[in-house]
Amino acid sequence: MAKVILRNLNKTFVDQQSKKEVNAVKDLDLEIHDGEFMVLVGPSGCGKTTTMRMVAGLEEVTSGEILIGERVVNDVPPRDRNIAMVFQNYALYPHMSVYENMAFGLRLRMLPPIWQKFTPKYKEVEADIDAKIQAAARKLDITQYLDRKPKALSGGQRQRVALGRAIVRDPEVFLMDEPLSNLDAKLRVQTRFELINLHRELKVTTIYVTHDQVEAMTMGQRIAVMNNGLLQQCDTPQNIYRHPANMFVAGFIGMPPMNFVKGATVKMEGGTPVIDCGGFSVTLGTDRAAVLAPYVGKEVVFGVRPEHLNDKALVSGTPSNVVRAQVEVIEQMGATSNLYISLGGHALVSVVDASTVAKENAPLDIVIDADHCHVFDKDTEKAIF
Ligand code: ATP
Repeated sequence: MAKVILRNLNKTFVDQQSKKEVNAVKDLDLEIHDGEFMVLVGPSGCGKTTTMRMVAGLEEVTSGEILIGERVVNDVPPRDRNIAMVFQNYALYPHMSVYENMAFGLRLRMLPPIWQKFTPKYKEVEADIDAKIQAAARKLDITQYLDRKPKALSGGQRQRVALGRAIVRDPEVFLMDEPLSNLDAKLRVQTRFELINLHRELKVTTIYVTHDQVEAMTMGQRIAVMNNGLLQQCDTPQNIYRHPANMFVAGFIGMPPMNFVKGATVKMEGGTPVIDCGGFSVTLGTDRAAVLAPYVGKEVVFGVRPEHLNDKALVSGTPSNVVRAQVEVIEQMGATSNLYISLGGHALVSVVDASTVAKENAPLDIVIDADHCHVFDKDTEKAIF
């Protein structure tokens, strides 16, 4: 096992057609702890695959350092980095059986030269390789497929073989690039769960790349959110959801995404901060007064997640921050309903329990949960809280 440290990492490509420079990864500082499951997440083109490929040694670093364990590996070839990769397309050898696919890398690494084939040492190593394959196959429940060729397997089974091939190498670090994206929705959820369990058992440092925020939230012990080659925030899923560092992270993590109201202004009413969103206002707790003091009279961006706009009829007691909205469209999701509402002229989304009696084209009293509101600086887009 090993920690992985990315120190001021940069990657610049030169676009072959336009001859322009593309800064795919910019000044990336990230430490993945020993045994941690770290997810790199972000939209297409944000630089996550490039980051992963640099760690793997498949892409040269423009500047900065990569450490695996205590060792700087910038100039270490991929095969000597003690990593194992699992790709989206599985990258299995089609002409080899599952067993041979799993044995291939091990034989290259462990077996003595072929002319020693009839020595006891050779047999010992082959027995050792076989034991590793059988153990990994049992763990992944693919023992019955060991003699099959990859084409005779389903996508999910192929992905297990790819995982098996990674496990038998007993690496210090697993690198996984969108490994579930070729699986159907149901299998993806199941495999997600299995991967988490596998990590709990093996405790191998893992860097996992995905563009899917649900995968990131459910799998990552910590999540590194990237955009335009820049790290936006790195924290636990809970902290990223509760305290997004900026508007990009706030909008990227959470589904449906956070509602933003631009052009809101901060007021102070007898020591109590109020956000005037134009058409409706939100009274915040006095504990927010100090942090908002420099913004009084200024324009900010107000943010609230759909799940923190509730139907008043579903809230017990006498809640504060009740505002009258107009329900435009209702989307039934099963356990919950998405309400597309107009609030003071702003188009917002609210997620409420499916037991709501809200109707389309009718007014509805909405409770804004002031404890879960966010305010962003309009220029830097950074979270004030
Ligand atoms: P995706 O989820 O679509 O794979 P990503 O976040 O993994 O996206 P990267 O593949 O790392 O993004 O790409 C980051 C940026 O670098 C993109 O703008 C991409 O076009 C550019 N890029 C990647 N590889 C090269 C290359 N070999 N030559 C030129 N530009 C490249």
